[in-house]
Amino acid sequence: MANLHDLYQEILLEHNNKPRNFRKLEDANRKADGYNPLCGDQITVYLRVEDDVIADVAFQGVGCAISRASASMLTQSVKGQTVAKAEEIFDGFHSLITQPDAEVDYDLLGDLEMLSGVSAFPTRIKCAVLAWHTLNAAIEGSEDSVTTE
Ligand code: ZN
Repeated sequence: MANLHDLYQEILLEHNNKPRNFRKLEDANRKADGYNPLCGDQITVYLRVEDDVIADVAFQGVGCAISRASASMLTQSVKGQTVAKAEEIFDGFHSLITQPDAEVDYDLLGDLEMLSGVSAFPTRIKCAVLAWHTLNAAIEGSEDSVTTE
């Protein structure tokens, strides 16, 4: 049985206390809101997409340590990437946290590997993927807010 405390500690130290890119992006050209009713996590993802490249990305919101850490890592991993590459990273990350036996490209995922422990806690998976679903909605230009339910 994995220990939730260990999982928290690792993530909290790295990203929760100092979330990266935690701000409103004033010159964003895409934006989406996400909500995870199971935990109460709320997030807004801002993007500036230029020629299919995510030139800048930021987020704001309130939520648990995992949702914040995941959003923080998301901004780091997709900034400067093409939209196609960001979707590839999301696919890899999704496999990492939902299919513990899946083969994943750790070079592609970088720090996101730290969230792999979430796979042992099904209710926490929604916290971890919230920012990613919201990112997808922003990329697609969807005006509807996203919910993990
Ligand atoms: Zn949460």
